[in-house]
Amino acid sequence: MVGDNMQQELVYLNDSYCRECDARVLEVREDKFIVLDKVLFYPQGGGVPYDTGKIIRKSDNREFAVKSVRKADGVAVVEVDAKGLAADDGVHCMLDWDRRYKHMRMHTAAHILASVFFRENNAFLITGNQVDADKSRFDFSMPEFDRERMAMYVDKANEEIAKGIELRIYELPREEAFKIDGIVKLAGAFPPNISVLRIVEIPGVDIQADGGPHVRNTREIGTIEVIKLDNRGANNKRLYFALK
Ligand SMILES: [Zn+2]
Repeated sequence: MVGDNMQQELVYLNDSYCRECDARVLEVREDKFIVLDKVLFYPQGGGVPYDTGKIIRKSDNREFAVKSVRKADGVAVVEVDAKGLAADDGVHCMLDWDRRYKHMRMHTAAHILASVFFRENNAFLITGNQVDADKSRFDFSMPEFDRERMAMYVDKANEEIAKGIELRIYELPREEAFKIDGIVKLAGAFPPNISVLRIVEIPGVDIQADGGPHVRNTREIGTIEVIKLDNRGANNKRLYFALK
C-alpha cells in the first residue's frame, strides 16, 4: 500500500482530485520505467486500472506519454513511451482526468454494490471485480442465478447512491481494522504485512480497507445500469454494469 523505501508521496491517495503536479525522477529502470517522488498516476491494483496521462520534462518541455503504471515491490513505476528521462529530472505530471474520474465513479459504485450483495445475501462471495472506464464487472460464487433478485440489489445500490453520502477516508491500525465486521469483502485481496490500513467508509453503507481513488460524494456516481448477466457455471456468475 505504501512504497516507503522509496519515499514516494502518494498524491492519488492523498488528493484523488489532483490532476497535475510537479515531481522529480528518483530512478530510471530499463530506459522507460520511471520512479517518481510524487505518484500522481494510480498504479493498477484492487480491480482498478492504472492511470494514463503525460509527463513533461521542465528543462526542455519534452513530453512523454504514460503507457502504464504498476507497483513493483511496493514502488509505483510509470512506463513512458520513449527513453530519455534521467534521475533528478524535474517534471510536470498531467493526468488523463476523464479516464481517472470514470474509474473513481466506478470504484465507489462497485463498493456500494458489493456491500448490498454482502448485506442481502451471505450465501455467495464476490470472487473478482474489475473496474473499467465504461464497463465494470463482478464475479461471484452463487449456486443459483436469479435475475430478478440481481435487479433488486442494483435498485438498492442506486437508492444508496442517490442519498448523496459523503465518503470518509482515514487510517486505522491493522488489528483495529480487522475487528470491523465485513471489512474484507473481496476474497484474497488483502495485502499482508501492512501495519496501518487506509479505510474507506461510505457511512451507513460500506466500510473497507482500500488503496484506490474514490469520489467524495456518492451523488457523483450517477446510476448503475446492468448491462449483462453471465452464467459461467455452478459457482461462477458474472455481472457487467455501466454508469449513467
Ligand atoms: Zn476498492
